[in-house]
Amino acid sequence: RTAEEAIGRLVRDVPDFPEPGILFKDITPLLADHSGFGAVVSALADAGREGGEVVIDKVIGMEARGFILAAPVALALGVGFVPVRKAGKLPGETHAVGYALEYGEAVLEVHRDGITAGERVLVVDDVLATGGTARATAELVAACGGTVAAMAFLLELSFLPGRAAVGDSPLTVLSVI
Ligand code: IMP
Repeated sequence: RTAEEAIGRLVRDVPDFPEPGILFKDITPLLADHSGFGAVVSALADAGREGGEVVIDKVIGMEARGFILAAPVALALGVGFVPVRKAGKLPGETHAVGYALEYGEAVLEVHRDGITAGERVLVVDDVLATGGTARATAELVAACGGTVAAMAFLLELSFLPGRAAVGDSPLTVLSVI
């Protein structure tokens, strides 16, 4: 509730960014507010608990805004953080998954040893839009032999089909637009 209020007050709409016709949700004012940032990290971390117990082994976050949220969520839960990055950025052996963008394709990667087979993973990102990024990340978790235990986002853009794209892992969204 506090998290939802902070998101409503501190996420800024930027018209025509990064291209004409897109209404961009800018989370930087929320990040700059200590209590707002704390409230959303705490609410996202709840997605990794059941009955007060931590039920996940790793938190995964997607480049770049996902990193900012997923890393403190991992610390709050007392588990490790694993980055998912754009192609060519990770130095070790990786799994890679391609996914469709509005125009063209993108590739996301994860280190093969970032997640151990059998681990339960919480996926954290800022915005669930078409769901392509989250679905590709779930495929990377599966390629490592892990399981997506839950996904958590600050914002869901409900006019886009993200919810349907991410499959049936439990989904937490702190605010819906
Ligand atoms: P999707 O793959 O279409 O679900 O897009 C989600 C990805 O795009 C996330 O990693 C977001 O960071 C980013 N994204 C999409 N729309 C916005 C927005 O309005 N504000 C911030 N990030 C966005």
